[in-house]
Amino acid sequence: MVLPNFSNVSNTSLNTTISNEFGVKVSTIEHLMGALFGLGVDNALIEIDNEEVPILDGSAKEFIEKIYAVGLTVSNAPIKIIKINKKIEFKDGDRVISISPSRVSLEIEFELKYNNPVIGNQKNKVNVFEDDLNEIFNSRTFCLYEDIEAIKKNGLARGGSLENAIVVKENNILNNDGLRNSKEFVNHKILDCIGDLFTCGYRMIANVKCSQGGHYLTNKLLRKVFENKDNFSIVEIQERNLPHTVINRSLLRSIA
Ligand SMILES: [Zn+2]
Repeated sequence: MVLPNFSNVSNTSLNTTISNEFGVKVSTIEHLMGALFGLGVDNALIEIDNEEVPILDGSAKEFIEKIYAVGLTVSNAPIKIIKINKKIEFKDGDRVISISPSRVSLEIEFELKYNNPVIGNQKNKVNVFEDDLNEIFNSRTFCLYEDIEAIKKNGLARGGSLENAIVVKENNILNNDGLRNSKEFVNHKILDCIGDLFTCGYRMIANVKCSQGGHYLTNKLLRKVFENKDNFSIVEIQERNLPHTVINRSLLRSIA
């Protein structure tokens, strides 16, 4: 068993990989983690027969639909949520991520800057518990055409194709149907961020701001937050159902 905890994250170069002390590892956990966060699932056992979570269409869409179709059980255990008490920042050159206190919401503001003209500079901000997140969860991972060979050399994305990623070559998107939404690139990065934040084990009340980050920065940020108990509080909610403010209803509505 490998807990999807930030302290077990062993590789963040192309995806989020977790490992345990026996060398068992599972890669690409972030879209599944994002789907679990989005659906309000904080207790689940995932069985997997390989070391990479299926990439599916490169988004969290199918996880959301399938988990919803199977159904969820409401448990009697109190719900715990992390509340951030102090601003914490992690920088790596031009790339930066910060987390700061919020009263009741989880806001994620993300910006990416690519030299590629199709991806370019994209920015989006979401309130994770209140906004319609369908576009976030439907947004696919993306790569530059020239990077595909490098990814395959690392043994990942062996089935990598236009079926499970947006592939950008110079001024063109190679996928026949183009983009699913106008900010699909940055929206996918927000999905990754939600999934990676969930490796703290709880949903969260905070403001997160990230410029040009990804799995590495989010993991470094969580490590920094949780190394000092003054940085956060664990809020316990006794009700069996989550209060309206901390679960997003738009996903449930859209697939009901
Ligand atoms: Zn991703």
